[in-house]
Amino acid sequence: MTEHFPVCIGIDVDGAAPALGRSPENAKRPVMLSEGAFEFHEGLPLLLAVLSEFEIPASFYVPGIVAEKYPEAIGNLQRRGHEIGSHGYAHRSPPLLTPEEEKSELVRGIDAVEAAIGKRPTLWRSPAWEWSERTLQLLLDEGVNVSANFHDRLRPYRHLQNGKPVPLVELPVQWHLADNPFFFHGGQPGRVIRTAQDAQTVWQDEFDGLYNIPGTFYHLTLHVNLIAHPGRLRMLERHLSYLKSHDRVRFMTASELADTVA
Ligand SMILES: [Zn+2]
Repeated sequence: MTEHFPVCIGIDVDGAAPALGRSPENAKRPVMLSEGAFEFHEGLPLLLAVLSEFEIPASFYVPGIVAEKYPEAIGNLQRRGHEIGSHGYAHRSPPLLTPEEEKSELVRGIDAVEAAIGKRPTLWRSPAWEWSERTLQLLLDEGVNVSANFHDRLRPYRHLQNGKPVPLVELPVQWHLADNPFFFHGGQPGRVIRTAQDAQTVWQDEFDGLYNIPGTFYHLTLHVNLIAHPGRLRMLERHLSYLKSHDRVRFMTASELADTVA
């Protein structure tokens, strides 16, 4: 078997967007906002060092609020060879919005990333991995051609509208190949933070399973505020090293992989 096996690393840079998207009142809660600030004070440089060490191009998903507050840092991601996608404006879930709000959230988010990186992003991840019944048309209208949201297949595929293929490729994601089910806590009583080893075990088992199924790929979803802590980054280094030890693995950005889909 000589076919390449694509690996995509998608990383959300949520910052304070989820808190501000829940309520503008949260702008008055500095401790709540500090979790997002961690990403820029500490997390991002540490995570970028790991990606550089392994020479891996990643795809970063950035809410508009974050692109407006940290344009330098977001522009720097692009200068380092990573891809930048849009991730809503204030990290609000499309199905919970009115049609006007959904359109505004999408367009403002794309505009803000464009202002930060000097290029209109064509990659998009919904802030909640959810679409509304209007989302497909809105994405097509805005020239988005790669989505990383659906959970329905092990392979990239092209979306259909009225049974016909459209210029939008889906790179499916999975909850068990994301860091949040293992590490998100949010101060909620009863919620348990899993060990880094738990995540690595699940991720590695799934990679092993996928690696021998032709046409599939491995799509990991990370969040800077969750993965970019020193102990978890050591696990990420072990995991990336394991992935890299496989001959057919090719690390690709989301758009690079989407370009290979017929
Ligand atoms: Zn997010």
